[in-house]
Amino acid sequence: MNLVFLGPPGVGKGSLAVRIAKDYGLLHISTGEMLRAEISAGTHTGKLAEKYINDGNLMPDSLIIEMLLSKLQHSTAKQGYILDGFPRTLNQAQELDKFVQIDAAINLDAPEAVLLKRISHRRICPVCGKGYISYMMSSNLCEQCGVEVIMRDDDKEEVVKARLVEYHTKTEPIIDYYRSTGKLISVDGDDTMEGVAAKVEEILEDLKLANN
Ligand code: AMP
Repeated sequence: MNLVFLGPPGVGKGSLAVRIAKDYGLLHISTGEMLRAEISAGTHTGKLAEKYINDGNLMPDSLIIEMLLSKLQHSTAKQGYILDGFPRTLNQAQELDKFVQIDAAINLDAPEAVLLKRISHRRICPVCGKGYISYMMSSNLCEQCGVEVIMRDDDKEEVVKARLVEYHTKTEPIIDYYRSTGKLISVDGDDTMEGVAAKVEEILEDLKLANN
């Protein structure tokens, strides 16, 4: 099963992708995480990515498509994978379709006020990248690394505004693309993580039955 998770920043697709990937034995591939790893490693791609990410802009298609396809070529995802944060433009979606078979695109959405509130509480471990929700933490330390969690620079209010504009202008058109190819499944993301996960799991069970 190869899945795409779509949705605006803050809708919770990253945390959901981690959870669903674990439950279904799928490989979780997040292009945002890949870019943050490049930034930490101080690579050429990382230096370029830092500027785009911190300005709230999308990376150029050519670069991100090459990075993702190379990851897919080298992956040993026997059960399939979840693409989280890719595609983010129509061109990326069309390029992806030339190389792999996507079974479903799960689109999560929630009102903008909900997204902004969630982002303001989002924290990340600067070492391992594990994500947290500030008010659900008993201390402000990463449970895996013991270091203090931080707010992503691109989660700061002014950058989030730019990211939402990028989302509406460049990413939203993908929803119609997947609708036209019969792959779109819409899920209300304005619910608890448990509630959203239960809905997505139900959908995946139906998909599994349909594919067998
Ligand atoms: P994320 O962790 O998915 O929110 O991604 C963080 C940032 O990485 C985005 O705001 C973009 O600047 C960049 N990025 C991640 N995935 C892509 C993509 N598929 N296309 C272009 N830029 C991306």
